[in-house]
Amino acid sequence: MDRFEALAALLAQRCGTLEVRNEEPMSRHTTFRIGGPAALMALPRTAGEAKAAVRAARELDIRPFFLGNGSNLLVPDEGYRGFVVKLCGLDQTREVNRRLWAESGISLARLANAALGRGLAGLEFAHGIPGTLGGGVMMNAGAYGGELSQTVTAVTYLDREGEEHTIPAAGCEFGYRSSIFARHPDWLILKAEFSLPQGDPEEIREKIQELARRRGEKQPLEYPSAGSMFKRPEGHFAAALIDQCGLKGLTVGGAQVSEKHAGFVINRGGATCADVLALVDQVRERVLRETGVTLEREVRLLG
Ligand SMILES: Cc1cc2nc3c(=O)[nH]c(=O)nc-3n(C[C@H](O)[C@H](O)[C@H](O)COP(=O)(O)OP(=O)(O)OC[C@H]3O[C@@H](n4cnc5c(N)ncnc54)[C@H](O)[C@@H]3O)c2cc1C
Repeated sequence: MDRFEALAALLAQRCGTLEVRNEEPMSRHTTFRIGGPAALMALPRTAGEAKAAVRAARELDIRPFFLGNGSNLLVPDEGYRGFVVKLCGLDQTREVNRRLWAESGISLARLANAALGRGLAGLEFAHGIPGTLGGGVMMNAGAYGGELSQTVTAVTYLDREGEEHTIPAAGCEFGYRSSIFARHPDWLILKAEFSLPQGDPEEIREKIQELARRRGEKQPLEYPSAGSMFKRPEGHFAAALIDQCGLKGLTVGGAQVSEKHAGFVINRGGATCADVLALVDQVRERVLRETGVTLEREVRLLG
């Protein structure tokens, strides 16, 4: 029995309700539609199941990888010989003492709709970001002047032993596309609390629609991608630098620098992880040579 078979057996024994899949193609779980199989994947639907997954992995000394919607992720073509815990099933919201709480697997679109449904403003910016709350907190996702750090007041997570902790936003060390969770990849974000002002539902809805329209105009949403490939370099915009170097449309295999938005690398069909990484290397090299600016990848590479 290999270690993943042993883990699957332990999970079946400890938590019979937890869904577990062997050799699950990661291309089904990334917005890039790229990636070979994960040795083992668990798909918890409750915090108890998530805890059982973390604790069983710890017992066998296997480090889990926590997956949201895979919208900021590149997975190697040969796959991932590891244990993936996908959190999309953990997606409930509730209101406690006039504060909104949401579980980490909820999509940011559903979270924004849940706020809208309660007449709460401040999450309109998040509606078009195709990730989960967990991935969003970890990356401090943001758009159009908003960032999750502006509305999150507390985060509950499991440490690597499976112990639960709740920390205030001040302890989350939020920065540009970063948080304390980015420095602790073995902490599983379970849920977050928000402080949101009351707003006019009609205005909130209109703002969501207006931002969706702006996104649709600027971004190549018709192709699989992982959004902006590079972080914003200090004092510059990655897309403007790439465009300035004449790199729109540059192609390696099935991967291409989008003609519509130079900051996006798109999968034009059949792109491999190797295609994307080769293209990223070419872009970084040309931008550095021609502008002196070093681009840093925002999209995470699994493994
Ligand atoms: C078309 C498109 C547009 C985008 N636009 C934006 C944008 O405007 N602004 C922006 O900020 N981003 C944008 N993104 C990028 C992406 O959607 C965000 O970074 C998002 O927050 C990632 O969430 P996810 O659930 O998909 O995370 P994943 O890609 O699944 O994971 C990202 C990281 O978060 C970790 N993680 C996920 N869930 C948890 C958890 N529960 N606990 C601990 N760690 C966890 C993972 O381990 C991984 O390291 C865009 C992407 C696409 C494809």
